[in-house]
Amino acid sequence: MKHQPANAIQDLQFFREQGGVNPSISDSSTYTFLTAKAMSDTFEGTQEGCYLYSRHSSPGNQYLCDALAKMEATEDAQVFASGMGAITSVLLQLCKSGDEIVSSRTIYGGSYAFMKNFLPDFKIQTHFVDITNLDQVEAAINTNTKVLYCEALSNPLLEVADLEGLKKLAVKYNLTFVVDNTFTPLVITPTEFGADVVIHSLTKFINGSSDTVGGVVCGSTEFINALKDVNHGAAMLLGQTLDSLRAASILKNLRTLPIRMQQHSKNAMYLAQCLEQAGFKVVYPGLKSHKSHKKMQQQIHPEFGYSGLLTLDLGTLKQANAFMEALQAENVGYIAVSLGFYKTLFSASGSSTSSEISEEEQLNMGLSEGLVRFSIGLDFDIERTYHAFIKCAKHVGIYSKATAIT
Ligand SMILES: *Cc1c(COP(=O)(O)O)cnc(C)c1O
Repeated sequence: MKHQPANAIQDLQFFREQGGVNPSISDSSTYTFLTAKAMSDTFEGTQEGCYLYSRHSSPGNQYLCDALAKMEATEDAQVFASGMGAITSVLLQLCKSGDEIVSSRTIYGGSYAFMKNFLPDFKIQTHFVDITNLDQVEAAINTNTKVLYCEALSNPLLEVADLEGLKKLAVKYNLTFVVDNTFTPLVITPTEFGADVVIHSLTKFINGSSDTVGGVVCGSTEFINALKDVNHGAAMLLGQTLDSLRAASILKNLRTLPIRMQQHSKNAMYLAQCLEQAGFKVVYPGLKSHKSHKKMQQQIHPEFGYSGLLTLDLGTLKQANAFMEALQAENVGYIAVSLGFYKTLFSASGSSTSSEISEEEQLNMGLSEGLVRFSIGLDFDIERTYHAFIKCAKHVGIYSKATAIT
C-alpha cells in the first residue's frame, strides 16, 4: 500500500508511562544506569535502549524523531537545534577532505553559503547545477563525488526535482542522495522515489508557529547511528542538539500539520490562479503554466496539494518593495523571511534569503530582483485576501501593468 504520511503520524501511539495523552517531557541532561556494566556497554554501543546523555539522545527528542521517521517512511531520525544544524551535520558526516558534492544551484541561501564558502576550507568542493537538467547533473559527477543534494521543491524558484531520475544517477555512481523536503512536508515523500536521507527545517511548516528553530534528519538506522556515534558522529560531536522542551512543543504542532498543509495549499492554489488570470507573473507548481507541473503532479500526495509557496515577479526591486509594504499596511501579512506561519509572509528573495548568492549567479539561475516569495497563510477567507492583493497592486500602480501583460 502507498505510504500515507498523515496516517503514519496519527497512528503513532504515545499512550504509556503515567497515561498522559502527551508523552512526558524529558527534563534531564544525564541518565542513571542500574549497573556500572550497563553504562560501559552503552558507551561501547553494545547495549541498546539506554539513554546516556541528552546531546546523544533523550526520550523526549526520540518521540519527535519517531514521529518524523514515520512521516518520511525512514527507519529512524535525529532532531537538531536548527535546519542548518541538520544540513551541516549530514554533509560533514558524508564528506571528508577530497570528497565532492553535486548540488542543485537553487537551494536555501544558508545551505548554498555552507557548500560554496565554508566547505572548500576543508577541501570539500561542490558543483552547483541546474537540477532539472539530468545531463548537467551527470556531467558534474566524478569519482570523488559522494553526495547528490537537492530540495524537493526549491528555494526560491520553486523548481521541481525529478527525484526518480536523480536517484538513478545516485545509484549509478554510488552517491548518497540527500533531499531537503522543507517546502513540501506530507506533499512529497522523497523516500518513495529513493532518497537516502531526508532533511527538514522544522522551523517552517512542521512547527508552523514561527516560535522556534529546529531541524531533523530522517534516514536508515545505520546512518542515524553514525550521526550519533560518540567517536565519529557529527550530531554528537558538533553538538547541535534540540532542547527537549522544544521537541515536545514541535511534536504537538506536528499533529495539525495535515490540516494546515491542506489549507496552505488550497489558499496558495486559489491566489496563484486568480493572480495569474489578473496578469501577474506567478510561479506556482500547481499551475499548468509551471514548467514542471506534470513532474510535480507525479510526485505529490494529491490530498495535500502543491504546498503553500508561490512567487510573483514584480519587475523591479522598487516595485517589489512598494507592493510588500502596501500588503503589510493592508494586514495581508508580514514582510518577513521564513515560511509556514498562519499569516502570509513575504520577502524579496534576491536581497534577503538568497543574498548569499552573487548577483551574477542570481541572474544565471533566473532569480530576478523583483521576485517576491510568498508563504501563503491559513486565511479563512482567501477571496477577501485576493481582493486586498488587487487593492494594493492598484495602490502602488502595478495593477495596470500586470493586466497589460495578458
Ligand atoms: C529555513 C530553511 C533551512 C534552514 O533551516 P533553519 O531552521 O533556519 O536553520 C534549510 N532549508 C530550507 C529549504 C529552508 O527553508
